[in-house]
Amino acid sequence: MFFFIRRRRRKRKPLTAEQAAEVERLRIQAKAALPPRLAELAARHGFTYNQVRIKHNVSNWGSCSELGNINLNLSIMRLPEHLRDYVMLHELCHLRYLNHGPEFHALLESICPDHRALARELKGYRLI
Ligand SMILES: [Zn+2]
Repeated sequence: MFFFIRRRRRKRKPLTAEQAAEVERLRIQAKAALPPRLAELAARHGFTYNQVRIKHNVSNWGSCSELGNINLNLSIMRLPEHLRDYVMLHELCHLRYLNHGPEFHALLESICPDHRALARELKGYRLI
């Protein structure tokens, strides 16, 4: 039941011409800015991923697959820089733990001590 309510609420409304133009502008920015920054953060903290892709979906800021592929939402470009980094660090930690269990949080805490405050701050932003 909950599943269906969630799916219905999150269905994408058709974009206006203005929104579509904004999405394309963000996509270009995201493709230029996010992969190098992800590579930098991964190198700094000793993570290895397979591929990074820029996506546009209405359900998450980022995701990580068991094959080590990271997807980043182009809406990340609308976030302040410290929240962009938080989203990327969060996804990098999923390379080791594909869940939000205690080990995942311990790892995230070790590289991003203020992650709880950042997660709260991120809730103030919307995906487009
Ligand atoms: Zn997560």
